[in-house]
Amino acid sequence: MKKEDTLELKIEDMGVSGEGIGKVDGFPLFVKDAVIGDYVLVKIMKLKKNYGYARLLDILIPSENRAEPLCKVHRQCGGCQIQALKYEEQLRFKERKVENNIKRIGGFSQPLMQPIIGMEEPYYYRNKAQFPVGTDRDGKIITGFYAGRTHDIIPNRHCVLGAACNEEILNVIIAFMEAEQITAYNETTATGLVRHVLIRKSFSTGQIMVCIVINGRTLPMQEKLISALKQIEGMTSLSLSFNEDMTNAIMGEQAVTIWGEDVIIDCIDEIKYQISPLSFFQVNSVQTEKMYRVAMEYAGLTGRETVWDLYCGIGTISLFLAQKAKKVYGIEIIPQAIADAKKNAALNNITNVEFYAGKAEEILPDKFAQDPQQYAAEVVVLDPPRKGCDEALLNTILQMQPAKIVYVSCDSATLARDLKILCGEHTYELQAVQPVDMFPQTVHVETVCLLTRME
Ligand code: SAH
Repeated sequence: MKKEDTLELKIEDMGVSGEGIGKVDGFPLFVKDAVIGDYVLVKIMKLKKNYGYARLLDILIPSENRAEPLCKVHRQCGGCQIQALKYEEQLRFKERKVENNIKRIGGFSQPLMQPIIGMEEPYYYRNKAQFPVGTDRDGKIITGFYAGRTHDIIPNRHCVLGAACNEEILNVIIAFMEAEQITAYNETTATGLVRHVLIRKSFSTGQIMVCIVINGRTLPMQEKLISALKQIEGMTSLSLSFNEDMTNAIMGEQAVTIWGEDVIIDCIDEIKYQISPLSFFQVNSVQTEKMYRVAMEYAGLTGRETVWDLYCGIGTISLFLAQKAKKVYGIEIIPQAIADAKKNAALNNITNVEFYAGKAEEILPDKFAQDPQQYAAEVVVLDPPRKGCDEALLNTILQMQPAKIVYVSCDSATLARDLKILCGEHTYELQAVQPVDMFPQTVHVETVCLLTRME
């Protein structure tokens, strides 16, 4: 077997990034866009010592697991990876991914896996979308999504993961740019004005927020855009964000409202959250509610407990748990998010929460050393970013010895690594592993775990 060879292959497995895997005499080949069960014709692109990459040339016999993707550009676009797989099979893939990590990296031989919580309607679920704006070879303004691992814009105003209103909003903005001769940003030359369009929609209240990110300080003829956009049902907030740097960051440091309100309101269960253009908020509200209910059930609160919510963002989990706890403390590294968390507590008349801005691995040990009585908790909730928790933080939790730890994770590999530390020698026991499908059509999966202290 050598580079450029073409051969036929049965796809028998899927890699963590959604690629199909087939074997030739035991030697694995990764094939993007092939799914388990396909019989395919491929061309070998790259060979390494223990595996290789091949390009899909033709699907000779399609797998029974294939679904007809709703999106025409799903193969080029970097947003979805597994749209061509039936939703049921996507769920099985995610369950296997979590279970394998917990077993292999965590060293748990029989983790108590719960069946994944999927979506009834696994499309049009995202409450936030960011569309880059650019120009094609003919000078036409385009918007869509970046192709996987590049900054080439694949034109697409109708993303099947996003809210249905996105397309109409983009049509209005692009028509306005064309009519007023407003330029799109060019990343290579750092010229042109409009960089990105951010759209957020609250599915609970119907409110829509649009923020236009510009390479400059003013948007010429903005009144015309305002009068066109405010016709759209649900529009309540329009802002500009200024980003004049050559950077991969999408948003500028601030957003300035040019029409309507500064925030929109979204609800998860009974709790209301104010969301500004720059706030972090879970992108799938329907699944977030289900996930928080699991976290709440695992926490098993009676009203007497003190709870730490580490990596709390804008306090979403903290406020949710505060309804049934004596006191909730939250820690989050981004000061702006903590400011939002405090506003959200006030908005909901929740007074038994306290928020700290800073690193969880610094603030928790500090507070616990200061007053081990006051700051000891019965329940600790963790929801770290992909890289997982800092070991200093895990060590403090092991000293504090809460009765329960609820670990919410968006990366089951780092989750498994951290669980191994927490469930070391006669410390904690892993009681349940609950995967939740927050991002249908993509390879990402959330997991909630319950750990209880050993007596
Ligand atoms: N629990 C929240 C947010 C989880 S996302 C929710 O459900 O909405 C993870 C959060 O951890 C992000 O808001 C990120 O800013 C924050 N973060 C990252 N590193 C951190 C650290 N070292 N200490 C505290 N927070 C951190």
